Amino acid sequence: MNAARKRRKALIIGGGVAGPVAAMALQRAGIESVVYEAYAGGADEVGSFLTFASNGLDALRAIDAHHLVLSEGFPTPRMEIQSGTGKYLGEVPNGGTLPDGTVSQTLKRADLYRALRDEALRRGVRIEYGKRLIDAEVTPGGGVVARFEDATGSEGDLLIGADGVHSRTRRIIDPNAPGARYVPVLNVGGYARGARARAEPGTFRMVFGRRAFFGYALHPSGEVWWFANPPRAEEPSGADLAAISTEQWRELLLDLFSEDDTPAADIIHATPGKLAGWATHDLPSVPRWHRGAMIVIGDAAHATAPSSGQGASMAIEDAVVLARCLRDLPETARAFAAYERLRRGRVERIVAHGARTSNSKIAGPVGRALRDLMMPMILKRIASGGSLAWMHDYHIDWDEKMAA
Ligand SMILES: Cc1cc2nc3c(=O)[nH]c(=O)nc-3n(C[C@H](O)[C@H](O)[C@H](O)COP(=O)(O)OP(=O)(O)OC[C@H]3O[C@@H](n4cnc5c(N)ncnc54)[C@H](O)[C@@H]3O)c2cc1C
Repeated sequence: MNAARKRRKALIIGGGVAGPVAAMALQRAGIESVVYEAYAGGADEVGSFLTFASNGLDALRAIDAHHLVLSEGFPTPRMEIQSGTGKYLGEVPNGGTLPDGTVSQTLKRADLYRALRDEALRRGVRIEYGKRLIDAEVTPGGGVVARFEDATGSEGDLLIGADGVHSRTRRIIDPNAPGARYVPVLNVGGYARGARARAEPGTFRMVFGRRAFFGYALHPSGEVWWFANPPRAEEPSGADLAAISTEQWRELLLDLFSEDDTPAADIIHATPGKLAGWATHDLPSVPRWHRGAMIVIGDAAHATAPSSGQGASMAIEDAVVLARCLRDLPETARAFAAYERLRRGRVERIVAHGARTSNSKIAGPVGRALRDLMMPMILKRIASGGSLAWMHDYHIDWDEKMAA
């Protein structure tokens, strides 16, 4: 049988962002898939939200799924920057604008996961839970066999590792693959009610506080959604973080922001419920993205520091571009090579940008003074010259056929 006509089956590892999107995009490309997710249910992380940039919306539009983000999120097209003294440093567009005027959105991470998963299920994608990948092998026929922790297995024509920053697939492809690099600030956030915050709808306020970074935006309900980045040089373990109680987080944050002339302390006081924090990571360059019929996409291949605001958008771009390559180049090895050619330069540039932005959050006293001096000039340049256009204006033309 002509290989191009045989209906291929993909095993997708991970049901976060890239996984369900890859399954929906592959379905459009005429490739069957099953998503295998390690956990039993969906994510429900306290206080965790993200900004979804215009390039991510554009990529979702290629598979008619952008409405999911637009209905879960609220628009945040502007970013205003200030220093811990309360000094206004400038304003820049946040996350780009599509030609039809659609702007970046902010939404809860758990809502994004749920919306993508439900839409994939609605379109007939199969998702299996409690399936943690432990190993995979390329078969002599060029396919792949996956083995899961529950002693089950599955066979397919290709395997797509969308299993996040601590990807098992990455190590299966290349046992020498780099591990995730710790970003030396923690993340903690929440939803405040009745806080005295000077926030305009649609504007994310970012504050380079004296001792920690703070960001907040006004949700249409009146809630203030906020996050803070307490600096922490050494990576804490999951157990260390889990042992920090809500009261201890509150005390730590109130202390960190006590010298700042900003609403951070008011917002933290006005936040009911549990506070929890995470360590975050990036992956500047993973030398090997694919081997045989296995490939990694999303955070598994190129996690970026959260400050780039691009992790979810890049994961979605990856999923759609890969499906397009597999649609038009039926030989898997050629499709993977074309995919890597299209993606590597862009994603590594974004990861480097994210690392620079994160480093600016942990400047010492001299660095802070310099930053506050230079920042207005830099922000003016970004605002007028569209210097982040390369990041936000990325467009995937789903209908255009890839050249062999
Ligand atoms: C605090 C914080 C703030 C962020 N802010 C932003 C932001 O503002 N904008 C933005 O675009 N991005 C942001 N991000 C990044 C964004 O969340 C990620 O880039 C995005 O979720 C990556 O999608 P993914 O599908 O590659 O990985 P994930 O979303 O991590 O999904 C991976 C999935 O694989 C599963 N899995 C893992 N191992 C296995 C295994 N062995 N077998 C089976 N399944 C497995 C996991 O359970 C998970 O469901 C932020 C991240 C953090 C932590």
